[in-house]
Amino acid sequence: MDKVSTRVLVVEDEPRYLRTIETTLRPDGYVVFTASNGEMAIQLASTKEPNLILLDVRLPDMSGYDVCQQIREFSTVPIIMLTAMAETADKIRGLEAGADDYVTKPFSAGELLARIAAVLRRVSFYENKLRQTIFRAGNF
Ligand code: CA
Repeated sequence: MDKVSTRVLVVEDEPRYLRTIETTLRPDGYVVFTASNGEMAIQLASTKEPNLILLDVRLPDMSGYDVCQQIREFSTVPIIMLTAMAETADKIRGLEAGADDYVTKPFSAGELLARIAAVLRRVSFYENKLRQTIFRAGNF
């Protein structure tokens, strides 16, 4: 996937974290748009078709887990949960809600970029595999 056209939806209500994430992603070539609550996140996930979503667990109107579950009803977009809780139960809950990975706050810019790149790499690997399979099937 071309990084320049990779659109990332960042869902976070704390301006401090939002700023940090934006200033980390933009210079690296990602197109960033943001939502500060769950309702807005679900709406943007369906209308803007992001390539990846960074989703905070603690949002003012609903939990990130619920947002994740609702997005999963209409999209397979990769989702990385942002969590302040390092508890195993919370990590499991996020993965069960349909998240692909999680990053525990506070995280470094380097870790965030590496996690995003890893998830996108995984997605494009499977997309290529799927394309090849369809191509082969089409030959017979
Ligand atoms: Ca928050």
